[in-house]
Amino acid sequence: MKKINITLILLSFTFALFAQKKSLLLLKYEQNYTPTYYEVVEMYQLLDANYENAKLIENGLTDSGKPLHTFIINNENEFNPEKIKKQGKSVLLINNSIHPGEPAGIDASLQFADDILRDKNGIASLLENTVIVIIPAYSIGGLLHRSAFNRANQTTPYETGFRGNAANLDLNRDFVKCDSENAKNFTRIFHNWDPDVFLDTHTTNGSDHQYSVTLIAPQPDLFPPTQEKFLREKMIPELFSNMKKGEYELIPYVSWMYRDPKRGIKMTQEGPRYSSGYASLFNCYGMMTENHVYKDYPDRVKSCYQFIDVLTTFTSENAKEIIESRKTGLEESISAKDHPINFELDTTIFREIEFKGYEVDENQVSKLTGLKRFGYDRSKPFTSSTKYYDVYNPTKTVQIPEYYILPQAWKSVVDRIKLNGIEFHTLIIDTILEVEIDYIDEFSNATRPYNGHYFHDEVITSSEVQQINYYSGDLIIPVRQKKIKYLIEMLEPKAGDSFFRWNFFDNILDNREYFSPYGFEENVIKYLDEHPGLKKKFMDKQKSDPGFAQSHRAQLAYIYENTEWSEETYKRYPVSRVYKAFSVSELNKLIGK
Ligand SMILES: [Zn+2]
Repeated sequence: MKKINITLILLSFTFALFAQKKSLLLLKYEQNYTPTYYEVVEMYQLLDANYENAKLIENGLTDSGKPLHTFIINNENEFNPEKIKKQGKSVLLINNSIHPGEPAGIDASLQFADDILRDKNGIASLLENTVIVIIPAYSIGGLLHRSAFNRANQTTPYETGFRGNAANLDLNRDFVKCDSENAKNFTRIFHNWDPDVFLDTHTTNGSDHQYSVTLIAPQPDLFPPTQEKFLREKMIPELFSNMKKGEYELIPYVSWMYRDPKRGIKMTQEGPRYSSGYASLFNCYGMMTENHVYKDYPDRVKSCYQFIDVLTTFTSENAKEIIESRKTGLEESISAKDHPINFELDTTIFREIEFKGYEVDENQVSKLTGLKRFGYDRSKPFTSSTKYYDVYNPTKTVQIPEYYILPQAWKSVVDRIKLNGIEFHTLIIDTILEVEIDYIDEFSNATRPYNGHYFHDEVITSSEVQQINYYSGDLIIPVRQKKIKYLIEMLEPKAGDSFFRWNFFDNILDNREYFSPYGFEENVIKYLDEHPGLKKKFMDKQKSDPGFAQSHRAQLAYIYENTEWSEETYKRYPVSRVYKAFSVSELNKLIGK
């Protein structure tokens, strides 16, 4: 009896070793077919139903009215982020179909989820150190808007979704302005999981070359020193070298400096409006794959899959170092004196990388128009080295204040601050505070709307110290907190994707009061009589400036703008700074703690 038992145990052990579970999904990317929204959800439901250690969760609605899902893969029946993080596991978040015409990530993520759950090639062991959270489809409205004609430069898969979501927004511009329900719920998912590593999957129709997959890596200069070093010396080089061991090599996303990539390519630096830039605000290693549209769809999916595999392996094998580097990086961000808000590519520093391209032909003759056009000659592949520029220098830095004061009146900003889990105090009294405040001296308006906004490209400010009335309920936001980078990037008006630039504070940009050329005159005469200094300056200007002397309105405007009549709130940016930490007793008085 005993002998039989041992044999049975041995047999079942052998069975467990060799009985790899069957694939549950019927993916058809080899036939150039990518699943519809409904098929994607059904497939994840099937995996959820068959595996105890995986779960499909609804995370609120998207603009389409349909729910945003996350699919969580752990190595046990535990899906609570806090509990999982306590075990020292790293978190990898993968986002798909932000641009539904670029669906390689949808197929690749489904295939990877299926494979890791059935432990294909022993990859389930990666889950010992890492939990994987997949957003199966982010722009659901775009995915539902399916057609063979959504992508003009793309022939496969035969049908795909559309770039705009249900509200016609490009969701990869919406991460901080957060106009869509998709972005609001993404924000909740992101902070709930606080991922260590984040991947957003895309496809590009940029320059032609021999690679199926390219990478927009996290730009190291956006990170504090420890993380910058980790990215430059370990993470980025290893992702590239590990890809080289597989079927599909990886190249940095080919961001043009010249039309011929042989002459040099640059690393892109993504701002907070983009997924990877948003992730970097929270010291998370965020990146995007860009599959190459001119490669066969099955290759796009398989190369994206290979990258997901390589990234998961790196995130699992280096879980401890990744988590530690983020922790140290955060401490560095919090204790920094200043913060860079604008950068410029350093064109003097580069390194040579291998590049497999096609010869550029400036004089290709179009088969359609018979005219000359720029193109690539695919009959002339080459392997050479190219200059790769990946260093950015700060061009603008700001001194980090101890607090930002945000009046509650700016509700849509307050809402986004809350949504991002920013810690703040609320004033319990009406009071006057001495603060530094900016005036918007100059700004440019976009002439056409950009994703629903008239973005301010140029912003020039000047600062002054003022005593300002604040009211019970206004926000005192301590800056040196976990989400410090978000706060600075969003509340400093000159930062590249600030709330100011996205029109959240446009109410300050026109006058509320003003003068009438007729009614104001009597008041001006009286005022000048009472202020002889100003009267002299005014009369001197009349004598020295003929244009001024000939304009009734200009003369009244001069008085309006140089006296107490001028509106102090006109062009005054509403968020102020306090550089000195309040004492405990001051704070007690202000916020009642
Ligand atoms: Zn894209």
